[in-house]
Order: sequence, then structure tokens, then C-alpha cells
Amino acid sequence: MHILLMGPPGAGKGTQAANLVTEFGIPHISTGDMFRAAVKEGTELGKQAKACMDAGKLVPDEVTIGIVRERLAKDDCKKGFILDGFPRTVEQADALDGIMKDLGLSITRVLNINVPAEDLIERAVGRRICKKCGATYHVKFHPSKAEGVCDACGGELYQRADDSAETMKNRLAVYEDSTRPLIEYYKKAGVYTEVDGRQAIDAVTKGLVEALKS
Ligand code: ADP
Ligand code: ADP
Ligand code: ZN
Repeated sequence: MHILLMGPPGAGKGTQAANLVTEFGIPHISTGDMFRAAVKEGTELGKQAKACMDAGKLVPDEVTIGIVRERLAKDDCKKGFILDGFPRTVEQADALDGIMKDLGLSITRVLNINVPAEDLIERAVGRRICKKCGATYHVKFHPSKAEGVCDACGGELYQRADDSAETMKNRLAVYEDSTRPLIEYYKKAGVYTEVDGRQAIDAVTKGLVEALKS
């Protein structure tokens, strides 16, 4: 099963990807997570990515396509994957078609988590992430049992530098300009399904799983 998880920033892609990993046992590949790991390591890629991320802009296509091409060539992707946050431009989608063809694979389904813009800033600003295991929480919608501490591993929770109301405005504008056109792109390809992301987390998961099994 080769799945693309799409949706605007803060729609719940990472949260749902974690639930789909539990359901299907295939790897979760997030370009955002890969860039954040590179920032932490202080590599050249990390430096370039950080400047784009802090400004709420996309990392250039050729850089992003390169890291995805490398990642998808790894053995664990043969049995399937959940690609989260890629593609985000038509150029990336075209490149992904080529990568999949080269690997002899095809996209099973594109799942778009639909959440209106007015909800997304609150979701992003209240997001908290575990430093140790990457689990995602929300101060209001999905709080950890003890404030600032991960339920799963006891790690410390932090807020992403780009999860401010100010940066979110840019990220949402970039989504409208560059990423929303992919909805038509994948509708035409006949693999597109939309799920209402305003429902509770478990209800969204149920909708996604149903879409995959139908
Ligand atoms: P994305 O990966 O699309 O940016 P996340 O999965 O990190 O989104 O979710 C953004 C924030 O919204 C997180 O704080 C998460 O806990 C919260 N969240 C995710 N799904 C829901 C939902 N269905 N209802 C309310 N809040 C949610
Ligand atoms: P969200 O879904 O909440 O916006 P991500 O973790 O997916 O968060 O992405 C965070 C940032 O990483 C983006 O704002 C962008 O700067 C960069 N990024 C992630 N994926 C891509 C991509 N496919 N193309 C370009 N930049 C990306
Ligand atoms: Zn944790």
C-alpha cells in the first residue's frame, strides 16, 4: 500500500500517519520530519531548510525531490509507505510519478484531510511535539496527561519554531498557491479521496482506513 497523506499545515497529517502506521505496519515518511532532523544535525541541508521553514516557505523542489528519491529507494519502502507532506507542488508530483515508475510502484490512494483555514492556526499554535519520540499533542484538543511531558515516553514537549500565528499565515498562503492545485492533479489520476478533518482524531482515522479498504 503506497499512500499519500495530503492536507494544509496543521490538518492532522502527522497524527493520522502515526495511527495508520499502527494499522498497516508500513513506514511513515515525512519530509517535514526529515528537514527537522537535518536542522538538528546542523548539516548543509539543515541550514538551507531552516531558513525556508522559519519563513513559512517551501524548501526548493530540487532539494526536496532529492531526499525523497533517496528515501523511497530504501528496502523498507517496497512493502509500502505513508508519504506525509510530499508532494507539495506540481513539480514534486511529476517527479514522484517518475520515481514511482522507476521503482516499479504505483500510488494506491491520495488521502486529503480537509480542514478549513479558520481552524488551522489554532491547531498549529497549540501543537506540542515530544523531543524524544516525536509524538504529537495539542494543548486543547489532544493534551498530554501531565503538562509538557510525553505520555508515551516521558520526554519533554516542545513547540515548533514555525508554529506561530504569523508564520502560519505564510504557510497557508503557500498551501493555497502551490499545494491546493494537487487536488485536481490527483482527481484526474483517479486516486483521490477526501476525509473531513474537523472530526475527532479517531473518527478521522476511521474514515481514512475505510477509504483505504474500499
Ligand atoms: P500536520 O502534520 O498536518 O501539520 P498534526 O498531525 O501535527 O498536523 O496536527 C496539528 C495539531 O492539531 C496537533 O497539535 C494535533 O494534536 C492537532 N490535531 C490533529 N488532528 C486533530 C483533530 N482531528 N481535531 C483536533 N485537533 C487535531
Ligand atoms: P505542516 O504540515 O504542519 O506544514 P511539515 O512538517 O510537513 O508541517 O512541514 C514543515 C516545513 O517543512 C514546511 O513549511 C516547509 O518549509 C518544509 N517542507 C516540508 N515538506 C516539504 C515539501 N514537500 N516541499 C517543500 N518544503 C517542505
Ligand atoms: Zn515521547
